[in-house]
Amino acid sequence: MNAPASPPTINPNRCLHCDSDVPFDSQAPTSGVYPCPRCAFALWCFRQPDGLHVFQKDVADKTIAIVAKQLEVPAEQITPFATFDELGADSLAVVETTMELETAFDVTFPEDEDQPPQTVGEAIRLVEQCLAKKKR
Ligand SMILES: [Zn+2]
Repeated sequence: MNAPASPPTINPNRCLHCDSDVPFDSQAPTSGVYPCPRCAFALWCFRQPDGLHVFQKDVADKTIAIVAKQLEVPAEQITPFATFDELGADSLAVVETTMELETAFDVTFPEDEDQPPQTVGEAIRLVEQCLAKKKR
């Protein structure tokens, strides 16, 4: 369990809301919140050494609020790259947090996930993927 958490999936140049490729590298030179140039949906971009990570702002905000409440950590200390381990969550707390997320977003995470999310960003991705599936 001591293996370093893998970073959340990188979605360079991609709006997760309208699923279109957009030139985020020029639009988002630094980390921050940017509207999608195509659909104006708020996207939360994080510049990391390995590239630009793009999250849906609304999903990220809600996920972080739930993680903060569950783990009793101030929301402003939580980033997508924080591991649950760093936030002081044991495996039970992670399971409880993912269950809260399922309830809050009205989604069901895939049963075949062999391990729960290791980072807050992975949890955000899980929610995003479930919401995207629901839309189809
Ligand atoms: Zn878009």
